[in-house]
Amino acid sequence: MFIVMIASECAPVAKVGGLADVVFGLSRELEIRGHSVEIILPKYDCMSYDHIWGLQVSYEDLWVPWYNGSVHCTVWFGFVHGRKCFFIDAHSADNFFNRGTYYGFPDETKRMAFFTKAALEFMLKSGKRPDIIHTHDWQTALAPVLLFEIYKFQGMENQRVCHTIHNFRHQGIGGQDILWASGLGRPEYYFSKDRLGDDFNPSAINFTKGAIVYSNFITTVSPQHAWEVRHTDQGYGLGNILHMHQQKFGGILNGIDYEMWNPETDAHIPYHYGVDLLERKYRNKEMLRDRFWLRKDYKPLIAYVGRLDTQKGLHLIRHALFYSLWNGAQFVLLGSGPELGINAYFWHLRHHLNESPDCHLEIGFDEELAHLIYAGADMIVVPSMFEPCGLTQMIALRYGTVPIVRGIGGLVDTVFDHDYAPTPPSERNGYVFYQADYQGLESAMSRAIGLWNHYPEEFRQLVINGMRYDYSWNYPSQHYLNIYEHIRHR
Ligand code: ADP
Repeated sequence: MFIVMIASECAPVAKVGGLADVVFGLSRELEIRGHSVEIILPKYDCMSYDHIWGLQVSYEDLWVPWYNGSVHCTVWFGFVHGRKCFFIDAHSADNFFNRGTYYGFPDETKRMAFFTKAALEFMLKSGKRPDIIHTHDWQTALAPVLLFEIYKFQGMENQRVCHTIHNFRHQGIGGQDILWASGLGRPEYYFSKDRLGDDFNPSAINFTKGAIVYSNFITTVSPQHAWEVRHTDQGYGLGNILHMHQQKFGGILNGIDYEMWNPETDAHIPYHYGVDLLERKYRNKEMLRDRFWLRKDYKPLIAYVGRLDTQKGLHLIRHALFYSLWNGAQFVLLGSGPELGINAYFWHLRHHLNESPDCHLEIGFDEELAHLIYAGADMIVVPSMFEPCGLTQMIALRYGTVPIVRGIGGLVDTVFDHDYAPTPPSERNGYVFYQADYQGLESAMSRAIGLWNHYPEEFRQLVINGMRYDYSWNYPSQHYLNIYEHIRHR
C-alpha cells in the first residue's frame, strides 16, 4: 500500500509530545512491512534540521488556493532517519511556520488549515495518489473534509482517510473565515450540526468533528480511551457524534519505537543493559545522580518525564515529589510546557529545593536527558487527569523503570498493579491508583517504595516482568493495516 501521513509533528525533527513519536514509529513499522510511506509536515524554522538528510527542493512553485487568490509555497524533501518527509514552506506575509515555536498562536486554526490545504494541493499537483491518507489530531482534521468536498472532484476520488485523535481536548475551533479561506465556503452547509457545526458554539466549526463525520475510519490511541470518550466527559463534547459514527471508530494502543527506545543500544545512555545485565542499569542511576549532584545513598529514585500541563495532574506531580522526599526517596523531574505560569511555578519550586541533595527539577525539553532518566530511575510517576495512551509508562517499562500510574486511558491498558491486578503475577508490571487525590497517589507510592526497600528481589522481578512486555509497533501496526485494508476497498 502507499500511505501518506499528514501531521504537524514527527520525531525527532519536529517534536512536542507523543504525536511526534507515533507518526515516526508507525511510519517506520509500516515501511518495514513493505509498504510505502511518505510524511508531509510544515517546514518550521524551529525544527531540528540536523535530523534531516539531503534536504532539497522537491516542488518549486506550488500555488495553494487561499481566499480569492493563492499562496506561493515551496515543498522540500528530506530523509528523517530513513523516513521520506516533505516539508511545506509557505511564502506568505502571515509567516505561518516561521515563528520560533511550534504552537501557541492566536491564528492557530488558520495556519494549520492552511498547512492541510497545502498538503492536499501538493498531492494533487504532484500526482501523488496514495491508497490511504492518515491524518493526526485537529491540526490536520480538515483533510478528509477538503478531500471529499473538493479534491475528490479534481482527480482524487480513490483516496481513503484514516484519522487518529491523539487528544480530545484540542479540537480545532474556528470561524466562518476558515471556510472562505480554504475554499469550502457555504457556511449554511458546513455549520450544520451533522457536519462541522460545533455542538456548543453556534458560531464555530469544529475541525475534529469534521474528521469524525468525513473520514472513512477514526481511531483513538487506546481501547480504554475509545470507551471513555464515548461514555464519559473525556470526549470533551464529541461523545454524541462518536456514537453516531461508532461503526467506524476504534481504539488502537500506540507502540513505541523499539529502535529509538532500546536500553541495549541507546546512544544517549552511558551503560547499556537488558534483562540479563540488569546490574548495569544501576550504573546509569549513579550517572544520573552525578549529573544533578544527588547524594548516593541507598534510596529509590523516582522520576517524572513529560509536559507540564494540567492534563498531566500537576498537583499530583508536585505531591509525588514531596512524598518521595518525606519517605526516603529521591525525585527527578524533566518537564516543560507552553504555559508561562505553570513553568514559572516549577521554576519557583526548583529554586525552593535548590539545596536538596535528593531532588532535581529540569525545566525544558531535553531528549538526551529523558533517555538517561528512563535508564537511571527506579520508578516513574504518571498521575494524569486523562491520558489517551501515554508513552512514558511504556518507555519506562522497556527501561526497567517501574511505572506508578493513575488508572485511566491507555495507562489502564498497559500497567497492571503488583498487588491487585486480575492478571497472573508474572504479568504484573507496576502500580495503579484511581482517585486523583493525594491519598490515591500515596496508596500506590507507599506500596512501590515499600517493595523497593523491603523486598528487593520481588521488586527486581517486577522490573523484569515489565521489560518482557512487547509494546513495540509490532501489534499496533497490524491493527492499522487491517483498518487500511478494510477502508481502501470502500
Ligand atoms: P503527550 O503526548 O501527552 O505529551 P506521551 O506520554 O504520549 O504524552 O508522550 C510524551 C513523549 O514526549 C515521550 O516520548 C516523552 O519522553 C517525551 N517528553 C515529554 N516531555 C519531555 C521533555 N521535557 N524532554 C524530553 N522529552 C519529553
